[in-house]
Amino acid sequence: MPTILDVRTKSQVEFLNITDRVQATIHSAGLQEGLACVYVPHTTAAVTINEGADPDVVEDILSGLQRIVPTTGYQHSEGNSPAHLKSTLVGCSLCLPVSGGRLTLGTWQAIFFCEFDGPRSRRVLVQLLPA
Ligand code: ZN
Repeated sequence: MPTILDVRTKSQVEFLNITDRVQATIHSAGLQEGLACVYVPHTTAAVTINEGADPDVVEDILSGLQRIVPTTGYQHSEGNSPAHLKSTLVGCSLCLPVSGGRLTLGTWQAIFFCEFDGPRSRRVLVQLLPA
């Protein structure tokens, strides 16, 4: 059974740093060596790894995605196709090595839940695979 992390977003578009929550899942399970798979079961959200130190990086990624993805010209009647497109561009899953009971993230890396059609209640699934 994967661990389910409940995520409550507060804005239409935002990144939430979930690194500590994923690490806590690993700690609770006692996993020392293996893989942590992080999966977002949503079509207008995503998960990614990027810089967690300077919040300007997240702001630049969000504004860059805003420039890349057109806001009009879609068929989907719900009206949130830009969010679907951003979800597909960023992706809905990650697979990270775990060593010594810790995520093997680089110094500046953090795991972000990416909201593109909030605010909403969301879920992140974490499945741990022992080596
Ligand atoms: Zn939709």
